[in-house]
Amino acid sequence: MGNKFSVSKILEDQIRIYGNCDRCYLNIYRNKVVYGQGNPYSNLLIIGEAPGKDEDEKGLPFVGVSGKLLRNSYYKSTKTNIVDTAYVTNVVCCRPPNNRVPRLDEIISCRTRLFVLIKTMKPKIILLLGSTAAKNVGGVTPITDWRGKKTESVLISGEKRRSINFNSVPTYHPSYLLRNSNNKVLFDNFNSDIKLAFTEAYGEKEI
Ligand code: URA
Repeated sequence: MGNKFSVSKILEDQIRIYGNCDRCYLNIYRNKVVYGQGNPYSNLLIIGEAPGKDEDEKGLPFVGVSGKLLRNSYYKSTKTNIVDTAYVTNVVCCRPPNNRVPRLDEIISCRTRLFVLIKTMKPKIILLLGSTAAKNVGGVTPITDWRGKKTESVLISGEKRRSINFNSVPTYHPSYLLRNSNNKVLFDNFNSDIKLAFTEAYGEKEI
């Protein structure tokens, strides 16, 4: 867990620095910048892909249908609420038009923000939701080979090529589960991946 002062300062800074962000073209389409939500002093960071329509309207991550699935699965697997025991953000802070996958230039524009968040928050583990996060944050692809495995990752950011090492658990994106809602195995895997990340973050003890 990061130092309390620096974590709260960094969240304030993110709002100041990215509130009117125009580092990439997504600023033309977005309504609200979606920074993140949850407990930034926790041991667990969760990174999705990009805000969708509901998130863009509310300015909060995972508040639509895939968010509901994520919150329910998280509670089922950990017996805690996601906003209490994790901080949730996305690879990019702004909604891509028609919910397309963010482009590489957009991901790179948002990478320093993620880099600073990880460096300050110092999560014990990062749960990566879906192939965009697994590939662009965890450096692993395809998701089917890597899901449910604790992975050592490195994120490199900015012109100075600063790097940060961290452990991650890649898993499916909740919207993939929604598209395959009859496949119980996928849901079981998803729940056990969340449980793995939670145990890495907090150990076996109940919190
Ligand atoms: N999908 C994501 O990847 N992130 C969100 O915040 C919502 C849906």
